[in-house]
Amino acid sequence: MTPAAPASPLDLLRRVFGYPDFRGAQERIIDRVIAGGDALVLMPTGGGKSLCFQIPALVRPGTGIVVSPLIALMQDQVDALHQLGLRAAFLNSSLKAGEARAVEQGLVAGQFDLLYVAPERLLSERFLALLDQSRVALFAIDEAHCVSQWGHDFRPDYIQLNLLHERWPQIPRIALTATADGLTRQEIVERLGLGEAEQFVSSFNRPNIRYRVVQKDQPRRQLLHFLRQEHVGDSGIVYCLSRRGVEETTDFLRAEGLRALPYHAGLPAETRRQNQAAFLRDDQVIMVATIAFGMGIDKPDVRFVAHLDLPKSVEGYYQETGRAGRDGLPANAWLAYGLADMVTLRHFIDSSEAEERFKRVEHHRLNAMLGFCETIACRRQVLLNYFGEEQARPCGNCDTCLEPVQTWDGTQAARKALSCIFRTGMRFGANYLIEVLLGKDNPRIKSFGHDRVSTFGIGQELSADEWKSVYRQLVAAGLVTVDLAGHGGLQLTEQSRPVLRGEREVRLRRDPSARGRGAGGRAAEGRSSGGRQERERRKSGFEGDLEATSLWERLRALRLALAQEQNLPPYVIFGDITLRELVQYRPRNLEEMSCISGIGAVKRERYGEAFLAALAAHAAEHGYPANWRPA
Ligand code: ADP
Ligand code: ZN
Repeated sequence: MTPAAPASPLDLLRRVFGYPDFRGAQERIIDRVIAGGDALVLMPTGGGKSLCFQIPALVRPGTGIVVSPLIALMQDQVDALHQLGLRAAFLNSSLKAGEARAVEQGLVAGQFDLLYVAPERLLSERFLALLDQSRVALFAIDEAHCVSQWGHDFRPDYIQLNLLHERWPQIPRIALTATADGLTRQEIVERLGLGEAEQFVSSFNRPNIRYRVVQKDQPRRQLLHFLRQEHVGDSGIVYCLSRRGVEETTDFLRAEGLRALPYHAGLPAETRRQNQAAFLRDDQVIMVATIAFGMGIDKPDVRFVAHLDLPKSVEGYYQETGRAGRDGLPANAWLAYGLADMVTLRHFIDSSEAEERFKRVEHHRLNAMLGFCETIACRRQVLLNYFGEEQARPCGNCDTCLEPVQTWDGTQAARKALSCIFRTGMRFGANYLIEVLLGKDNPRIKSFGHDRVSTFGIGQELSADEWKSVYRQLVAAGLVTVDLAGHGGLQLTEQSRPVLRGEREVRLRRDPSARGRGAGGRAAEGRSSGGRQERERRKSGFEGDLEATSLWERLRALRLALAQEQNLPPYVIFGDITLRELVQYRPRNLEEMSCISGIGAVKRERYGEAFLAALAAHAAEHGYPANWRPA
């Protein structure tokens, strides 16, 4: 590398990052920012947003200032840049005064390519004054959806970031987010004054994520079954609605011998920090968490995201599941959901202190989520459609595609179910109503005289589980509401009338039998037979090839050792895709190594010899000549 090497974006991509080509809109975004224009980038998680500001920061003179709310992750982000040989630092409240001052001096002296700053730090008068004395290449506003007051990631400081534009109109700004909905996008544009910015909206499809929804029966057992069948030894996230749910699920999984750690806002900051670090640094930890966990976690090898409770919106669900499979390798999104979830969430919304119009939006969002759960169409189509994207064909990689849902004519059943609500006075929950329909000998029913209503015992053609499914679908479809002022009894709505009068047909989905079938579906069970070896094959991508698998394990072990020496997460050294290519192409020298994705000049210098030695040792063990490689 000569000092005079021209710093074109493509050249930097190859030399510094070790990637052969730009992806999607990256190049256009980078060109725009280098030319001094503003950009708003909407790209799904794993899409490659970071390069969109990192490369312009290298090309333009001065330092790229990156605003991020993710203080806990800045160290790892900066470490990753150091691994690439870049000059980077961060400024946030975790630094001691002396350390912060050194970074500030470094900024003024032009010593950094990139500086990550927490928003409150950036907005301090002291720091703004420092910026006046420094050369700034660009402002990158990461996690830009934090300006949105509607989302749960709202950060008041973000609203004031508008002043960057007022104070330094000539410095380009690039705002980035993985939040896809139109409302949030509009808010970002308005609040950050990005009216002139070019918008780059990528497809939000995440083809490597397999979506699946199962009917909640015994949720923890179902989860365990899913993990044992498909994710032995994998790293993943389990989301629960409440702190208590997190604690109990963690205990449950631990008692079953799994490596689970809890994360929620009620834990001491130090515990949260430790658990997050363990999750990032180890490739086998399951994080059981509330939605307080996950924003900005750029761990690429999260192999599954499971929800034990229904998310409040499709946006939330998409964000949370998006944390799986960032590296592009296969990953699972698994959700268990049932009638009780709907009741709880409706209650949450109605009992909050929020204004009416806010509640309306929340109900609307929840309804969309229910629609996703109950759909008989391809889930990916429903998901993308929600974000305004058309997908012409069913995806073939979700449960409804893999195992098409049967439907049945539920008109009669719906009439009975609605009628039973009416006859018992619209005060009771589904479990009670089902007992009445089944004609159960139950003292409570007798005491209310409900053994004498016309619907008593008229529902024996269906099982209790099937009735539960009927009620769930009636609530999801708005044919029944939940009385939240009272005790959660089910009530009729305007829309129930035509059904009761026999003027409207009701088609229902036939739920796959829930009992004992946590993984949900023949396809899944067929795929996951074969235990550990099957899993390794899936992870490494080497179809039952023992020789390749043993090399893969050797390289993984080397990566882990190198990472631990430096107290870094393993993926900061090399991602799984890089390891996989090493196994596939078996470079014989440093020059050949530079063709491997993810090995730039500095990493090749640092780790190249160690990995070549591992490749050679493997070849020797298997009796291959040193220059051998697979056909
Ligand atoms: P995001 O911030 O959008 O979630 P990242 O910037 O973390 O995504 O990128 C996701 C992964 O894709 C990273 O491992 C990154 O190095 C890799 N990546 C980004 N751009 C490219 C590219 N052009 N070619 C190959 N890999 C890329
Ligand atoms: Zn599908």
